[in-house]
Amino acid sequence: MINTILVTGGAGFVGSHLCERLLSEGNNVICVDNFSTGSKDNIMHMHGNPRFEIIRHDINLPLFVEVDQIYNLACPASPIHYQLDPVQTIKTSVHGSINLLGLAKRTKARILQASTSEVYGDPEVHPQPETYWGMVNPIGIRSCYDEGKRCAESLFFDYHRQYQMDIKVARIFNTYGPRMHPDDGRVVSNFIMQALQDKEITIYGDGHQSRSFCYVDDLVDGLVRLMNTDGVIGPVNLGNDGEFSMRELAEKVIKLTGSSSHLSYHPLPMDDPRQRRPDLRQAAEKLGWAPSVALEEGLTKTIDYFTGLLKRHGDVMNVNPEVNEPTYSIQAV
Ligand code: NAD
Ligand code: UDP
Ligand code: UDP
Repeated sequence: MINTILVTGGAGFVGSHLCERLLSEGNNVICVDNFSTGSKDNIMHMHGNPRFEIIRHDINLPLFVEVDQIYNLACPASPIHYQLDPVQTIKTSVHGSINLLGLAKRTKARILQASTSEVYGDPEVHPQPETYWGMVNPIGIRSCYDEGKRCAESLFFDYHRQYQMDIKVARIFNTYGPRMHPDDGRVVSNFIMQALQDKEITIYGDGHQSRSFCYVDDLVDGLVRLMNTDGVIGPVNLGNDGEFSMRELAEKVIKLTGSSSHLSYHPLPMDDPRQRRPDLRQAAEKLGWAPSVALEEGLTKTIDYFTGLLKRHGDVMNVNPEVNEPTYSIQAV
């Protein structure tokens, strides 16, 4: 069935891949983005498709469009991006979700929230099942994101209980792939950009903390399945359950890029979770979904993307992970 689908945050890393997938299935796609961390470059190739529409809009403001489905991805996702303007970050999860839930209520659209493994905080349960309530610092520097996303989940479930709305909540674990922002400070983009330029690979802490990395195509497939599986509300974990320490990741990136980079050690940021790995049994049982792209395969595709980016823009790029401030934007004018 062809739907008209709203993707908020559609010009971002995950959102742009999702828009592509939805268009390829014949849907009409409305991409809403305020271009705060997303980029027109991510969506230019879809511009001109008569089924693709772009609206510059901040979801903290009401939005009136007629749609069948809504994917709410709008929210800065990398720690340095979401900590740049923490008040705007939490508003986006809270006010933004209220507006989109109001829109879904009026249009009777099915609505999916891109939640996060950050709702588990620094977890005492490992791997993390959906039943785990998490351990989050409510007043720390990550709380604008973590608590904002937790509040968004509450809002989704309250709108569901109070108004019988058709909601979906996906808890997304660390995802990587082409179109990650080169300056977003996330570990995969940092390590690849550093390795490709033979710069030091910046390990925070001792590098023993772990994460589980999902390739973006797998994630998008999981999101679309969740949206289109009747009777499954979630929350459902989506990610890859291969678990790697940051040192292992650095070594893989060095090997795959053939880089001469060395590791350098830096202080661990506040409230940085020590470990993270999704329990994926619900996704398998209820959605028939499991990730299929192994880390080395996904890293190779991502390295190809960043190699191309450096060839095109390398002369104006100034990635400075020690300062960790975005210093370059690939946004088209
Ligand atoms: P991203 O920063 O590339 O994309 C977010 C997009 O939302 C950007 O295009 C940005 O401009 C837009 N945006 C931000 N605030 C907005 C607002 N107020 N109004 C309109 N647009 C706004 O990040 P991403 O990695 O693509 O993440 C997409 C979603 O998935 C986010 O909600 C994020 O929390 C969630 N998520 C991502 C990961 C991951 O590892 N990538 C993990 C867990 C959850
Ligand atoms: N809203 C929106 N688009 C719509 C319908 C509602 O942006 O098509 C916003 C509206 O601004 C409102 C919010 O969604 O503040 C929540 O809507 P809801 O119906 O829950 O609340 P109410 O309108 O009763 O405050
Ligand atoms: N990290 C690192 N070096 C970097 C960037 C990040 O060692 O250059 C670490 C970071 O401290 C964290 C892990 O890598 O332990 C994942 O960080 P990221 O910001 O990608 O995601 P999140 O912490 O939100 O899972």
